[in-house]
Amino acid sequence: MGDERYRCKHLVLVASPFQGHMTPMLQLGSVLHAKGFSITIVHTKLNSPDPSNHPEFEFLPLFDNFVAIDASTNFTKFVEVLNENCKLQLQQRIQEANHKKITIIYDNTMYSGEEVARNLNVPSIVLRSCSASYMPAFLALPKLHSEGQLPIQDSMLQKLLIPDLYPLRYKDLPFNNTSTQEITEMLALTNPIRNPSAIIWNTMEFLENSALTKLQQYYKIPIFAIGPLNETARCPTTSFLNEDTSCISWLDKQAPRSVVYVSLGSLATMDKKELTEAAWGLANSKQPFLWVVRPGSVNGSEWIEFLPDGFAEEVEGRGLVLKWVPQKQVLAHFAVGGFWSHCGWNSSLESISQGVPMICWPFLGDQYVNSRYLTYVWLVGLELEHLERRVIATAIRRLMVDDEGKEMRKRANDMKEKAKNSLCNGGSSFNSLNNLVEFILADYN
Ligand code: UDP
Repeated sequence: MGDERYRCKHLVLVASPFQGHMTPMLQLGSVLHAKGFSITIVHTKLNSPDPSNHPEFEFLPLFDNFVAIDASTNFTKFVEVLNENCKLQLQQRIQEANHKKITIIYDNTMYSGEEVARNLNVPSIVLRSCSASYMPAFLALPKLHSEGQLPIQDSMLQKLLIPDLYPLRYKDLPFNNTSTQEITEMLALTNPIRNPSAIIWNTMEFLENSALTKLQQYYKIPIFAIGPLNETARCPTTSFLNEDTSCISWLDKQAPRSVVYVSLGSLATMDKKELTEAAWGLANSKQPFLWVVRPGSVNGSEWIEFLPDGFAEEVEGRGLVLKWVPQKQVLAHFAVGGFWSHCGWNSSLESISQGVPMICWPFLGDQYVNSRYLTYVWLVGLELEHLERRVIATAIRRLMVDDEGKEMRKRANDMKEKAKNSLCNGGSSFNSLNNLVEFILADYN
């Protein structure tokens, strides 16, 4: 149990409407509540968390004026307008709540949290929910643009290693086709991380030690690597979409480590041709599969209207297609032996935490860097070169059946153990969390 003396110490967590950001923020809230702090979650009306899942928190909504985030949204513009729309209300809500002593912990996309903290003369800390290894690539973008290496003009360059950014290739860079002007705008918003007093990173030292060291030198403020939050937080669902739990009884009937779980997270989309190739790749692999196709994620359709004729008959009894599932539970299930993923950082951490090896098919942002580390450095994943049925079926067999996959599973299990150890008494994340608590309390004295 936490220390009850801290209950008067109030933490205001400013959450972001992206699923991959909301989840670690709520998990952080649970972890810090368990340490004894009182927690307020300030969140947008768009993609609100469900307060009934977290009766221990206070929730304060902000009217953001958005109705949805879709794949065509210009990320930079969206985040900018979101912050403009929310900043004043954020300050007002916090003032109205009238808690005596607070620290603001804000998601990096809700950077107005830092300005509000300054206005209110209270400390602020930023939560980063991407991989630490992503940041050196992100920070290198201005130089690569000024040298004319970006945006990528020549597709032959894609597979080459980038000088000074080993092991990354040009194809692993985030936004490698984005114009110099858009990159400049994005960096002006997000880099440097304004002026918080510390950074909380959802990662582990054993996994990203070298990147964390570089970031420590770059930011020159304390960095607390306290992940994986998915393992420490005692939180019920954090999903915006309803989780279809029928998959668990279906998994119960499958052989151990036989099922490939497929999910591309909350933002990635496909077109009809890609869906067709994915479907036949799964069918031809002859492995059982659980495939999450998010409603609206196939361009031009509501759900799975574009699945090819004959697919349902071909995979009957062996394949299950659902809209959204309790992913943590799925990855922890004995029947799941592999994860075909877009390599979002939460999904990557959840897979590592369960010792499940991956097939990596990144779509955007840090996912390319994550994929490179999973497949080339940590050796717990296979890179999917093309979204083509034969390539997919072969990758699934390599991961699920071949000796190569067995080796990956062993390494993934080693990582699972290391992740557990880092959270145990004396482990790096355990210590880092205690240091974070001390750091926050020091500001109250
Ligand atoms: N997720 C889930 N059910 C699903 C698919 C995804 O609960 O059917 C969760 C997953 O466990 C992860 C989050 O959605 O915590 C996705 O975050 P991630 O960082 O992996 O990717 P993003 O959605 O930000 O691209």
